[in-house]
Amino acid sequence: MPLVTLKQILDEAAKGGYGVGAFNVNNMEQIQGIFKAAQELESPLIIQASFNAVKYAGLEFLKYLMKAATETYPDVPVALHLDHGPDFDRCKTCIELGFTSVMIDGSLDYSSKEKKKPARSFEDNVAVTKQVVDYSHQFGVSVEGELGTLGGIEDEASAQKVMLTDPEQANAFVEQTGVDALAVAIGTSHGAYKFKEKPIIDIERVKTIHEKIPNTPLVMHGSSSVPMELTEKLNTFIVVSKGKDDEGGPYIDFLGKKYYIDQDYSIARDMVYDLFFKNRLKKTMGVPIESIQMGIRNGVRKINVDTDGRLMVTTAILEVLYSQPEKFDPRDYLEPSREAIYNMVKGKILAFGSAGRSKDYKPKSLKRMKKVYEK
Ligand SMILES: [Zn+2]
Repeated sequence: MPLVTLKQILDEAAKGGYGVGAFNVNNMEQIQGIFKAAQELESPLIIQASFNAVKYAGLEFLKYLMKAATETYPDVPVALHLDHGPDFDRCKTCIELGFTSVMIDGSLDYSSKEKKKPARSFEDNVAVTKQVVDYSHQFGVSVEGELGTLGGIEDEASAQKVMLTDPEQANAFVEQTGVDALAVAIGTSHGAYKFKEKPIIDIERVKTIHEKIPNTPLVMHGSSSVPMELTEKLNTFIVVSKGKDDEGGPYIDFLGKKYYIDQDYSIARDMVYDLFFKNRLKKTMGVPIESIQMGIRNGVRKINVDTDGRLMVTTAILEVLYSQPEKFDPRDYLEPSREAIYNMVKGKILAFGSAGRSKDYKPKSLKRMKKVYEK
């Protein structure tokens, strides 16, 4: 099956009342694992990459990896989507490369030199988003916009700081820009360190936004679940524990081997301890699957999953390297990483409700989508 547009995938998901996972990739094994899961469960799919990931894979490499995947798995309707396009030019580059969908993230000013990019005004966001929409739709390519800024809600103050999406503004934004999908800020957050405790996802807000713009599929970013078993498992590869033996002698148990430390050398002991423990993943929580499902019941159609895939890959690789240190053929650890992604994606497809939906519709070509936009 040729690549289809995000618009078609999400409009069909809206009809069927389910969500579609958008999985970030940057190498061959990830693409293969994700496609295998979608094929087996007969699910539509969104493959996405940030511009930096596109550059990492190599622009042409990513294009042809996706071509190989669509030829190998011809029954999977799939959109190739740019995640967080920072400006018009980079969206344009990806469209020229054959992406069927781009996100223009006009919510932040990516031209700023600051590490934490400042928010852009509503007017500036509308202007750059409309520019990308007008350009993309000429080619039948879909566009996702973003309104509000992502981040966890811990209290009233942080809720204001992260600027949750305002439903009235969402309505105006969609009208003025013509975007095909809208990423909303409702308390989800990017990365592995989302929340210290059970997160607050503002489902009421999703509901209100959906009522205002019922024909625009909503997108949940930062929606990895960061399963605790996984972070704990990953931590065991970094250090197991510190403890004391029967005689009170302190030791550090590193990968099942006890390293004794002389009690008198307490500074050295602390140093060693810091050295190992500082590298651990801190206690963290992601977005529970139930919150995502509640979102899906209220108009969320695209769910972005990146961190879970990263954790899966790294844990699978470390597991091989630590348990079988004699292995040095990359296939020995990359194969398990592909398998890990495949299992993770299968779970997400089942949870989001997109299983069994791939044969519901025939793909519309970009040419045909172009005509749809011309009307
Ligand atoms: Zn995002």
